[in-house]
Amino acid sequence: MNMKQNQLLADLTTFQIGGPALYLAEVTTEVELKEALDFARAKKLPVFIIGGGSNILVSDQGFNGVVIHNQLKRLTIDESGLVTVGAGENWDDVVASAVQQGLAGIECLSGVPGSAAGAIVQNIGAYGQTIGDLVSSVYAVEVATGNVKEFSAAECEFEYRNSWFKRHPNKFIITKFELQLHPGSAATAIYPEIQKRFAGQVPTLAEVRRAVIEIRASKGYVIMPGFESYKTAGSFFKNPIISKEQFEKIKAMFGDSTSNQFWEMPDSVKLSAAYLIEQSGFGKGYREGNVGISPKHSLGLMNYGGASAEEIKSLADKIKQSVLMKFGVKLEEEVLYI
Ligand SMILES: Cc1cc2nc3c(=O)[nH]c(=O)nc-3n(C[C@H](O)[C@H](O)[C@H](O)COP(=O)(O)OP(=O)(O)OC[C@H]3O[C@@H](n4cnc5c(N)ncnc54)[C@H](O)[C@@H]3O)c2cc1C
Repeated sequence: MNMKQNQLLADLTTFQIGGPALYLAEVTTEVELKEALDFARAKKLPVFIIGGGSNILVSDQGFNGVVIHNQLKRLTIDESGLVTVGAGENWDDVVASAVQQGLAGIECLSGVPGSAAGAIVQNIGAYGQTIGDLVSSVYAVEVATGNVKEFSAAECEFEYRNSWFKRHPNKFIITKFELQLHPGSAATAIYPEIQKRFAGQVPTLAEVRRAVIEIRASKGYVIMPGFESYKTAGSFFKNPIISKEQFEKIKAMFGDSTSNQFWEMPDSVKLSAAYLIEQSGFGKGYREGNVGISPKHSLGLMNYGGASAEEIKSLADKIKQSVLMKFGVKLEEEVLYI
């Protein structure tokens, strides 16, 4: 196991923000993971596991404990479409392999930055697909004991951008998981932006993957060679889910501007957080010194260079307060504060 001291965490995050880790352990095998946990237990230090660092805002003070950098690699696919994924695989490489082998189910999740384990924690979703719908089991090591537990999909308690692992941070470290994909099935092309591109034709998995990456790039939402990328953690806030009554009040107050800015659900309405933020005075390209909003997407709070975690947090709090005052809606962070 490679253990370093006082390493800047900014280098491991897409925000490029964050102070030092007292210890940083690079783990590539389950044996090394257990060694890192034994080390932390012996020194009575807290543990934090980091994957691609694309969904976190690390404090300027850093982390006074052991940060474990997850690099557990593995990718095997059997004839039934069961894919076994190591926690430290780059998520988009997993999608690329599945698409190449004709396995449907995750093509719309192309281009989401971060590690495979991070995708499970966050229950990533995009363009009509969600990873939690395909998980058959997740294997994880308990931080306190080093014991391995297999979680069924039900035990992962997947919800919109949430999971048991996100609600119980640093209790278990995911080492690998299994996805049941669909050999030979058609690609998912239900999202309007994707449907429009194929105008009634049935696209292949590879065509949907390409379309998703291009759409994401137009929003500054890919971090891949060949595309312009920004120092963000993607969508900073979740799309809020509100009652139908509250939505009717907002519609009455803000009229036509609300059209196409919401999704009806059986008992509630999901509102576009980007719409609420823009209407509250924080449009694309908004800037206050080192921080602001991405020029391409109003949900992407951004480090314009040299920003501190404190500056990003203050802007986030200011946006939350403005949206609350204007719409009476409480925004919730999708990004985790460390
Ligand atoms: C440009 C951009 C676009 C994005 N677009 C999307 C999108 O379309 N949809 C979407 O859902 N998300 C999106 N995101 C958010 C982010 O990419 C995902 O949430 C991603 O899955 C996070 O993975 P990560 O490895 O970077 O996690 P990290 O940020 O490293 O960690 C996130 C959390 O997971 C925990 N964690 C990491 N590894 C493990 C492990 N092995 N075991 C247990 N816990 C672990 C961490 O402790 C932390 O609590 C975007 C981000 C960016 C920067």
